[in-house]
Amino acid sequence: MIFDVVHQSLQARQRLIPVQALLGDAKGSRLPEVNGRSLTPQLAERAVAVCPTSALTLHPIPGGHVQLRMDYGECIACGHCAEAAASAFHVTEAFTRCGVTRERLVRRWDTTTGLEISAELGCDPAELAREIRSLIGRALNIRQLDAGSCNGCEAEITALTNPYYDLERFGIHFVASPKHADMLLVTGPVTRNMAEAVRQTFEATSAPKLVVAVGACGCSGGIFAGSHAVVGAVDDVLPVDGYIPGCPPTPAMLMTGILEVLRRWKQTMRTGQAKKPRPLRVSSSRLGLTAGD
Ligand code: SF4
Ligand code: SF4
Repeated sequence: MIFDVVHQSLQARQRLIPVQALLGDAKGSRLPEVNGRSLTPQLAERAVAVCPTSALTLHPIPGGHVQLRMDYGECIACGHCAEAAASAFHVTEAFTRCGVTRERLVRRWDTTTGLEISAELGCDPAELAREIRSLIGRALNIRQLDAGSCNGCEAEITALTNPYYDLERFGIHFVASPKHADMLLVTGPVTRNMAEAVRQTFEATSAPKLVVAVGACGCSGGIFAGSHAVVGAVDDVLPVDGYIPGCPPTPAMLMTGILEVLRRWKQTMRTGQAKKPRPLRVSSSRLGLTAGD
């Protein structure tokens, strides 16, 4: 009996997803995309009015036009904009801005012409796929750090290690101790109770101490931004190397983001621009630390 099961398993079709199919895939993330051709000032106003965060905002620009600003770092993927202004907004299935800088999570459109202003390309999945094998010369160890999340992001991160996504095929492992880690994958807004633990975990992490802010909460504080219990986003406490938006980001987006941060880090190493420590944006008193800590 057991040999029949083993035999059938060996005969079964390979279900591991090729990396090319994962990079840039955002199915299930519910992140919005703007259809510039259909965008009008009225539709933009309608979408901004229903956005529960400040992910969508309007700003006057020269020429009497109005700019629509979309900050994916603050988007909680509720889908309200796509419902209220369906012709100009839709839920996207492809998203490559994972693991990028905070600025690159922000996009802008002229609502009168529908044109994207200073459009920046996200990472190219094909180019990234080509680089992956040459990038990881050794294992990359990741410590996942929950700074106060709802655990939605953790559920997606857990899926990275299952046989379907199989992050370990790239030599990327999750480890229990920051002392063994090269990268911190930080989820949630940083709560007051966790701020000191987050800081100490970063101190204990091995070089190069790469930090990735995960989810709307990690990128901007998400729906918890402004709460008295929250210190802020991850970059209010730690120097962040890359941001992965979403609420929560899908495993494919997490994988795209981790690999993109790795690629950008390798580039800075090649050009000799090593990571420099950045002063914290939040004062010690706001972190709840006393003098002498
Ligand atoms: S999906 Fe994002 S941008 Fe659209 S309404 Fe929700 S939070 Fe705002
Ligand atoms: S980004 Fe969304 S899923 Fe992730 S911790 Fe915040 S609320 Fe939860």
